[in-house]
Amino acid sequence: MSIPAFPANSYDFVKYVPARNYIGGEWRDPSGSEELPIPNSRWGKAISTVRMSTAADVDAAVQAAKVAQRGWREVPLRERAMVMYRARDLMLKHIEELAWLVSHENGKLFSEAKAEVEKGIECVEFGCSLPNLAAGEQLEVSRGVRCELTYEPLGVVAGIVPFNFPFMVPLWMLPQALVGGNAFILKPSERVPLSSLRLVEIFAEAGLPAGVLSLVQGGKEAVEAICDHPDIKAVGFVGSTKVAKLVYGRACSSGKRALCLGGAKNHLVVVPDADVDLTVDNIVASFTGCAGQRCMAASVLLAVGDVDHIVNKVVEKSAALKLGVELPPVTTAAAVDRMASYVNDAEKRGANVRVDGRGKNATEGGFWFGATVIDQVSADMPAGREEIFGPVLSIIRVKNVDEALKIENGNPYGNASSVYTTSGDVAARIMGNAEAGMCGVNVGVPVPREPFGFGGWNDSCFGAGNLTGWDGFRFWTRQRKITTKWQLQKDATWMS
Ligand code: NAD
Repeated sequence: MSIPAFPANSYDFVKYVPARNYIGGEWRDPSGSEELPIPNSRWGKAISTVRMSTAADVDAAVQAAKVAQRGWREVPLRERAMVMYRARDLMLKHIEELAWLVSHENGKLFSEAKAEVEKGIECVEFGCSLPNLAAGEQLEVSRGVRCELTYEPLGVVAGIVPFNFPFMVPLWMLPQALVGGNAFILKPSERVPLSSLRLVEIFAEAGLPAGVLSLVQGGKEAVEAICDHPDIKAVGFVGSTKVAKLVYGRACSSGKRALCLGGAKNHLVVVPDADVDLTVDNIVASFTGCAGQRCMAASVLLAVGDVDHIVNKVVEKSAALKLGVELPPVTTAAAVDRMASYVNDAEKRGANVRVDGRGKNATEGGFWFGATVIDQVSADMPAGREEIFGPVLSIIRVKNVDEALKIENGNPYGNASSVYTTSGDVAARIMGNAEAGMCGVNVGVPVPREPFGFGGWNDSCFGAGNLTGWDGFRFWTRQRKITTKWQLQKDATWMS
């Protein structure tokens, strides 16, 4: 083990080791010429660096993975799951260190980072449960003839993940893929490659054989090499819609199984009978948590009828959030500019900026954007239509639930949708008709926690099924159907 524990236990700036590749159980430097800084967004300074990998690095990982997978697939599933138990213990043991690492490289608050690590551990726990779930079916399909179904590994598979959950999103894939008997190549976001260093070390310490889990740092070139490599059998992707579409198309065209989760523009519908305090707390937490950099964050508030008693409180509460304490920085200086440009544009088009996060700073040099609430937005404005991925809430005023649904369903994304109401009828209409894969009633961030599968619809997901839960296990395995006859009776029909 050559990656030291992350040294921070506060937000104070620290330096950390450069990100490296992990191939065949060894740490190696990526072979590309481009090297990028890894910014700590609270201080606007690099805590480390990452060098880009080339197609040759991807191939080296695949060759090591192919060898390792031959042995790993022979290990009984129950024993493979034991690695998850040990990894879970190690994650719990190091939870504070891991949370500080996530917080420093991603920028989110320590409390948010710790919640991320805890959610990652929950995914590992699903991996622990697989021996109790992964029994296939069997039936006597004809006299003396049995048909049995088994879940077999695909071989070498890969996961490409985004910057916003550097510890948890890899764990949306790893437990099912590894317990399923595959060798896995992880390609983290080049903006947050450090949590993955500790993640692979934890799995190695938990007893995962060398080569079964590889780490390939990098960006576009590494991703394209993964999509094109003939010996990678499946690709899981989480990131923006633009890249999800590219990866899905490219991976599928080289014959791979692919499931690519994309971006989001999540709508919350609020009607006049909603519980005021719960609704206000939920809405503010949903659009400002992790600085709005969550694919499940509220982005549009569809205010139905007279809900000013709620909207005014949302405005008040958002304006009072302490930057740097209750609201973390955003990922890069470019993200600050992107968010500001949406607010400027909405203002120019006549929207009312009621809480203005532009130009706010909690530290000199950090990348900050305060909570922002824009009222009187329309669905055709960029702020009402596109993913902003920051702590910005766009309020669209509508007359009734039908109009709310029309606007929500006119948006191409389909990740999350929530309704705030005390009426079962209103809730049923939204839940029954919203074009979204993950829906909530009086829940601001309706993440379907394990064992339920995570995945949206429409432009938020390319490929069939969900990435977590049981669907994840089905995605990373293939089903073998074995038909057996041991009674060699003479009066056999064609069916037997
Ligand atoms: P991104 O699409 O820029 O990057 C995701 C991954 O793709 C990274 O590993 C990156 O290196 C790689 N990549 C980037 N550009 C590429 C290109 N041109 N060709 C090939 N690979 C490329 O996403 P991000 O900015 O890291 O993450 C934020 C996005 O992820 C948001 O849109 C957010 O909604 C989405 N997201 C979605 C989910 C979900 O479950 N649907 C979860 C988390 C994040």
